[in-house]
Amino acid sequence: MSVMLKTTNLSKSFSHKPSTLSRAAKKLGLAVKEQKKVHAVSDVSLTVNNGEVLGLVGESGCGKSTVGRMIAGLLPATSGSLSFDGNDMTKPSVNTHLNIQMVFQNPYASLNPRQRIDQVISEAAVYHGLVTKKEAPAFVASLLKQVGLDPSYASRYAHQFSGGQRQRIAIARALALNPKFVVCDEAVSALDVSVQAQILNLFMDLRESKGLTYLFISHNLAVVEYIADRVAIMYLGRIVELADTRSVFDRPNHPYTQALIADAPRLDAKVVEHRPIQGELPSPLNPPSGCAFHPRCPHAMPRCGSERPQLVQIDSGHWSACHLNDADVRSSPTAQPIEFHALQ
Ligand code: SF4
Repeated sequence: MSVMLKTTNLSKSFSHKPSTLSRAAKKLGLAVKEQKKVHAVSDVSLTVNNGEVLGLVGESGCGKSTVGRMIAGLLPATSGSLSFDGNDMTKPSVNTHLNIQMVFQNPYASLNPRQRIDQVISEAAVYHGLVTKKEAPAFVASLLKQVGLDPSYASRYAHQFSGGQRQRIAIARALALNPKFVVCDEAVSALDVSVQAQILNLFMDLRESKGLTYLFISHNLAVVEYIADRVAIMYLGRIVELADTRSVFDRPNHPYTQALIADAPRLDAKVVEHRPIQGELPSPLNPPSGCAFHPRCPHAMPRCGSERPQLVQIDSGHWSACHLNDADVRSSPTAQPIEFHALQ
């Protein structure tokens, strides 16, 4: 499979704009406290192959949506590179941009309440010259059919639809630009569970019929396990584990991945045991030194507090960033196998 999207050391940091008072104090030569930077995403290197679904998972605030927005061209990267079909996306052309579309979490907020649905869906396609105004009604009707809605709904407004229908409209709007790649940012999280299943199946059908490739961002492990071919786990702005879906769920290596899986409720579990992850996600304003997971990790060693583990290949296609995989730790006479409390 050929690589469609590649990020190399992609990073994004945000800093506060200095207040008027700080700027005035600086002009007067007074000492001003340095504004802290939030490192939302650090050195994310990923590839997504043509036709693949890559799941991106982590707790709220881990930086996964920021990665999605940089890939969709909605946020500029602070450093690192991004290529799509071999084209450098740091200088994207309009055509490259149109190839990547995004479906957002909240279908209530992502549709303009003042526009009719036919305008919502066709506006960008008409603007970019993909269809003429005359062709737009037939174009909208065909898209509504593709996402499972009645074409007669075209003259209605967003508030006249349910959450699931609105998300179908948001998908139709994304498809209107004929993208090759869709970033789904928590695209089913705001929906009822029964509607989630319908929208997930729609994503899978569109993958087949249109040859789409997805980056599927979610905090919901069950959703990602259902839809993704490979899964990347993010913690505090960094990828800590990356592997095919079965390896991540059957043989999770990183203690954070293990904790996430043990924390997730599962209907098929024979042993009902809920093990919440200890502690809170640290602030990206003041990230822990060394391995960022060390304050919450049950296996933390002294070196974990000072030395950041690198993401290394531990098996074919399976990458993990944990010192427990280092040869010297594994060969130590005191080494303990990592206990994994899978619910089977
Ligand atoms: Fe835990 Fe250390 Fe591995 Fe980090 S590097 S996950 S603290 S054992």
